[in-house]
Formats: sequence, structure tokens, C-alpha cells
Amino acid sequence: MISNVFWHLSDYCKQECSYCPPRYRNNSEDRKVEDYLGVIEKIQASKYTEFDTIRWSLNGGEPFDLEYIDQILKAIKSKPSIVKIATSGGNSWFDYMSLQEYIDQIDVTFHHWQNISVIEYIIDFCQTNDKKIRVKVPYFPGKVREQLAIISEFQQRGIDTSGHLLHKDARGGNDPIDGYSQSEFNLINGLPEDWTPPPAPPKDPDAIDPNYVDMTTALEGPQSLGSTCYAGVDFMYISHRGFVNGSDCGGRTFGNVFEEGWTPVTESFKCPMFYCRSDKDKRLIRINR
Ligand code: SF4
Repeated sequence: MISNVFWHLSDYCKQECSYCPPRYRNNSEDRKVEDYLGVIEKIQASKYTEFDTIRWSLNGGEPFDLEYIDQILKAIKSKPSIVKIATSGGNSWFDYMSLQEYIDQIDVTFHHWQNISVIEYIIDFCQTNDKKIRVKVPYFPGKVREQLAIISEFQQRGIDTSGHLLHKDARGGNDPIDGYSQSEFNLINGLPEDWTPPPAPPKDPDAIDPNYVDMTTALEGPQSLGSTCYAGVDFMYISHRGFVNGSDCGGRTFGNVFEEGWTPVTESFKCPMFYCRSDKDKRLIRINR
């Protein structure tokens, strides 16, 4: 059996991308490596009593910017584990090269300002060593045409690659960042470059709001209140600041991993929610079994 741990290791990143929401910038590397190693030890001691493997999904900030990321990965890999990491791949080949033996799967973000030879090295290594790689390309205003050409070339080589519109902070309404031209929006949406949006139809004051959700029918399926649930055991999420959630539903939180005396939960609990709505929760967590 596999237990899943999703961990935003820190919000530290040295890159200062102009399009990165301010709350993710200017953060410092304020934890000691001993703090991380202590948490990993506790999680391992708890999970390996019941599970054969832990699948670790590591994220940031930029994990490769943590000075001691090698020690974190080495500690994780000292026991049976699958390690997936989300990164921009570092500034030179050597960043990834020094860590590659500890990483099984990589989601690499290829920013427009990056050296393509670093990404090519990572792709080459993953393909040669049968490791899973996914390339994500954040579209940058003014660079979209060239980025689409790169995405297409990678896809033709069998590399799982996708482009992503950059948004202002999701907390601020999730609008695209400023600077995209209409022709760039068109290309991103697979439309002819010179396509122009048709005039909006007149508003019908009696029309139903397209975002309206009828809660009397939206909550279908059996109630989950009182079900036996292994949130926190089968899956745990750790935030940048160390706070822990056992599921997407928020039905089970259990402290902060960096607090003295913190330990992972080991037992199931009774679901306090009426409906279990997250597909991810239902896929990763034993419920009522
Ligand atoms: S809603 Fe689902 S995941 Fe959340 S506590 Fe209940 S059974 Fe568990």
C-alpha cells in the first residue's frame, strides 16, 4: 500500500519572476535542515508501520533553491519511496545533476527566460532513464508564438508538454496578467490569429446566472457523515508554513509539522462532513472500508 504526502516545502524562491504573485516573493529560507529531517523521520516512522511505500510530491517556492534540498531528498529516499518534484529545473545542469538520482518524477516549469539546454538535459536524462517528466510552459506576453513552437516540438518528441496562461493572484479574481494581445489569446485557444470576438449578445434580465449551482441536486450520492475515513493516514498535505490537512474537504486538520511534539495521525476517524465531494479524496483515501 502507498501513502501520499504532498508537501509545499517552503515559499522560498530566488527567481523573482515579474508575474509571480507578490505573496510568493521575497520569502526567506527560514527553516533549518534539522527541522525538515525531523519531520521526515516522524512521517517515516509512522507510515512504514502500515504502508510499503510513501509517494512524496514536493513543491515550493522553488525546491532547488533550498540550500539543503539534497539532504531532504536523501533522507526521503533512504526508505522505499516515489519522489515527484515540481521545479523550474535550476540555473544550470549541475542543479538537477546533483539531485537526479533521488527524483523519480519531475514537473518542470520552462519559463521564457530559462536556458533551454538545462531543460534539454533534464528531458534527455528522464527519457534515457525511464523517469516520468512533464513540461509546463507559462505563456509570457509577447513570447507566445515562440513558446507554442517549443511546445509543439516537445510534443512531437513524445514529451508531455502543455502551456499555461499566467494569471494574477488567484485570490484576486484569477484574471490573466496584463500584456497578452488578442492574437496571442487566439493562438493559445487554437483560433486563427486574426479572429475577433463576435459582439456580445444583448443581456436577458431573466436569464439564469450561468454560475448558479442548484444545491438541491448538486449534492448527489450518499452522505458521508460518520463514515470511517483515513484522511491524514492515506494522504496528508503540508503547507508552506507547515500546517497539515488530511484531505481536500478540510474535514481533518492536525497541527503544524514544525511544532514540538507534532506527530502524524495513525488512526481513521469518523467523517464530520455531510458529503465527500473531492474526487482526489475519494481516489487517495480509504473511506468506509
Ligand atoms: S468528506 Fe470525505 S475525505 Fe472528508 S472527512 Fe469525510 S469521508 Fe473523509
